[in-house]
Amino acid sequence: DDEQESPAHEEKIFVAVRLRPLNEKEITKNDLSDWECINKTTIVYKSNQSDRPMYPNAFTFDRVYGFDSTTKQLYDDGVKAIALSVLNGINSSIFAYGQTSSGKTYTMSGITEFAIADIYDYINRHNDREFVLKFSAIEIYNECVKDLLSSDGTQLRLLDDPEKGTVVEKLTEANLRDCNHLKELIYVSEAERQIGETALNEMSSRSHQILRLTVESSALDYRGGDSGRTLSATVSFVDLAGSERASQTLAAGTRLKEGCHINRSLLTLGTVIRKLSKGGNGHVPYRNSKLTRILQNSLGGNARTAILCTVCPAHSHAEQSRNTLLFGSCAK
Ligand code: ADP
Ligand code: MG
Repeated sequence: DDEQESPAHEEKIFVAVRLRPLNEKEITKNDLSDWECINKTTIVYKSNQSDRPMYPNAFTFDRVYGFDSTTKQLYDDGVKAIALSVLNGINSSIFAYGQTSSGKTYTMSGITEFAIADIYDYINRHNDREFVLKFSAIEIYNECVKDLLSSDGTQLRLLDDPEKGTVVEKLTEANLRDCNHLKELIYVSEAERQIGETALNEMSSRSHQILRLTVESSALDYRGGDSGRTLSATVSFVDLAGSERASQTLAAGTRLKEGCHINRSLLTLGTVIRKLSKGGNGHVPYRNSKLTRILQNSLGGNARTAILCTVCPAHSHAEQSRNTLLFGSCAK
């Protein structure tokens, strides 16, 4: 039965769209919803007769989720298989992309919670293997890299390791005792992200946050063969900077406007994902930004990727929503 199969089953890049509900402020201002998910894969712009005609006005993805969807549905359909591939030694990365206040953090924090629970559940059911889990948390702000598990606030350098590729120098890699320890550290990283922020919104709209979980495992009773080998992989949960930082340049054919706020990591991520989705052997410019350097081993190659595009339904945000959907379309 096709319906039972996860749409992420074979795909290297799974792209989903989530429309959040209108919030009270938008309802009060009578800023109505422009968008409708007409089936499992298509979202349409309903207001083409209005002052903001839009072409195309229908966008298709692996999955689309309307305002009444739950994070659990989104997780179960496609993200779960990608996140849990870390248990089979396959790297993966899960991104939330969208304008500020579209629901990136809301969606990503729920996804992270479900994935962590499932990973520990798996580990507790597999006593024949020994698991070692490590966690790190990184913030990229203005192309500066910060350790969210350390409070000294210094900027970390990226180094090229001949074996591991790009590594973040002096980054805390916490050895996890159990699931609660991991939840505690995520809490610590969230608190650290907020320290020193003069304008919280401004900061979170400009910075990227990467929560990175590494899972290593080996068979306890090794008798040779494939199942005995050591597996090691990383899953990265990435809450991106607000996409309004990149939209001027992402819209096809638009010239880069001088003086606009450019987020190098966000733009480079877009380029890297577009190149990867096209396949082929062309040059992929991972090295052009800190975000893509850090995530290089989790993007492309055998790695699996989920991109969750979050969308504000309000009419006043139609242009930003369109840019987000175009970004998602380019990733397919
Ligand atoms: P972002 O991280 O993209 O800036 P947030 O995740 O902080 O946006 O979401 C903005 C607000 O909207 C928050 O108050 C959040 O709780 C709410 N919100 C976002 N998505 C949903 C959703 N799908 N259902 C209900 N509330 C949501
Ligand atoms: Mg946020």
